[in-house]
Amino acid sequence: MSRRSKEPLQDALLAWYSRHRRDLPWRQTTDPYYILVSEIMLQQTQVERVRQYYERFIKQFPTLEQLARAPLDDVLKAWEGLGYYARARSLHKAAQIILRDYNGKIPSTRAELLKLPGIGRYTAGAILSIAFGQDEPVVEANVRRVLARLFALRHAQTYGQLEELARTLLPPKRAGLFNQALMDLGAMICVSREPRCLICPLSKLCRARRLGIQNELPVRAQAHSKPHYDVAVGIIWKGDKILITKRPDDGLLGGLWEFPGGKRRPLESLEDCVRREIFEEVNIRVRDLKHFMTVRHGYSHFRVTLHVFEGLYAGGRPRCRGCTAWAWVSPEELPKYAFPSANQKIIAKLFDALDKTTVNFRQRAQSTKE
Ligand code: SF4
Repeated sequence: MSRRSKEPLQDALLAWYSRHRRDLPWRQTTDPYYILVSEIMLQQTQVERVRQYYERFIKQFPTLEQLARAPLDDVLKAWEGLGYYARARSLHKAAQIILRDYNGKIPSTRAELLKLPGIGRYTAGAILSIAFGQDEPVVEANVRRVLARLFALRHAQTYGQLEELARTLLPPKRAGLFNQALMDLGAMICVSREPRCLICPLSKLCRARRLGIQNELPVRAQAHSKPHYDVAVGIIWKGDKILITKRPDDGLLGGLWEFPGGKRRPLESLEDCVRREIFEEVNIRVRDLKHFMTVRHGYSHFRVTLHVFEGLYAGGRPRCRGCTAWAWVSPEELPKYAFPSANQKIIAKLFDALDKTTVNFRQRAQSTKE
């Protein structure tokens, strides 16, 4: 596309954006730290959900230095419910590196940003264009869809191909605005189902619309079904306390607390799985297991069914084998700890049961004390 031919597209999109842009708190600033936080949160999470978390997070950690010096547990707690906790750990780690190696100033080159944990090409492009005013493109789901339709791309494109295409469209010195405008157009007008072509500012320039194929694009990569695992976990009572364990810092849900348990082996009963996993993880024996609830949960690359059992401590001195910490806590103390979403559902049901049941769990537990 020549410079002259892209000017109408740039003008139409920017004019539309100036009138219809979404009112988002991170759009009121170009502070690189705020852009960094919002962009990390926006990876894999819907805008409306991020809005609630972003404002609370910024209030709790108003500067990069405060975030870097905060305990990881506090950061995970602030992130609780937003999911994909690796992002919170990466953000915290990146803040510490920036404080240590860059004197607290977020670097302004693509190469330096890409070396930081949790920052990929999309996030780097967003920080460079929005916070530092550089002519760098961004490609995320909305931009991908708009580009595929605007240029009638009938074959799946790589990230790099779309990034180069987006780069050719950038108006010099206004890339930040242009990138945000493309994202808003994709979110509000060029939506996935039934794009609103009649009110689209780019309709006269859109090849897919001209060909009548907008609903067939973008071409989707072949979907692969995600693997599924059965996981059994225990709410284990000792007196009026429940056992919780902390996951290792690296890996999925690292540093979060959970009810102990793990993946069922082939042909193993769920109760045997709870007994074995808890013994392997924290070295204690349990008894009187009763099914409490079932939780189905999806992660980015797999799905799990959590079979939750309630049971009693039966002996053994707790010792971490597959966890980094353990604690006996009262139900009232559970909200102080950061738990992943699937475990939050267990806690909600536990509170519900404790409120409603006539046979209090704790009374039952105490009446059958070891
Ligand atoms: S005309 Fe329709 S398909 Fe083309 S960019 Fe606009 S909303 Fe999307």
